[in-house]
Amino acid sequence: MNAEWNVRSCADQCVACQKKFADREALTSRLRFTEAGYLREDFCAECWPKREAPGAGEVSVWSATWAAPAPKAPEALKKETAESLLRELMETDDPTKRNVIFILAVMLERRRILVEKEVQMPEGTGQKIRVYEHKQTGESFVVPDPQLRLKEIETVQREVMELLGIAPPPGKGAADAVPPAAAPEAQNG
Ligand SMILES: [Zn+2]
Repeated sequence: MNAEWNVRSCADQCVACQKKFADREALTSRLRFTEAGYLREDFCAECWPKREAPGAGEVSVWSATWAAPAPKAPEALKKETAESLLRELMETDDPTKRNVIFILAVMLERRRILVEKEVQMPEGTGQKIRVYEHKQTGESFVVPDPQLRLKEIETVQREVMELLGIAPPPGKGAADAVPPAAAPEAQNG
């Protein structure tokens, strides 16, 4: 069951001919539902029309422009953002992070960094899949929607805040535990 969730971000090469994508190269991606779960495949323009099993189990098909990844900042300078965290987590095949991945995608959509392109619910899977496009780079992110309940969302949001190193907003009653902010008054003269 968990294997179904591991939908990776865009590959850097064509799944058919193994050619590395060039910066700004147009490519076509598809999401298939197979026996092993969801399978994402990225094709160059040449291989797409010649692909194996067109239409068979293709849940979603979309085109995109590949953008060469920006050089990684040295670890010491790196500041974790919702976007960098999403990218990192999508590269790991960690099914326990699926809720966090979804909440990050929603956060980035609210900030207009990602745009939702389509929502799919393949028959018989009971599983919602959302395809987001990165507004600037054109990359696509395929994110399974865990359809969280409100209570779960709060828990996951807290986890996301922790991962991003943001202190959660104080809850009710916490104000007493926080010392009053020191307000030094400007002294003139
Ligand atoms: Zn190819």
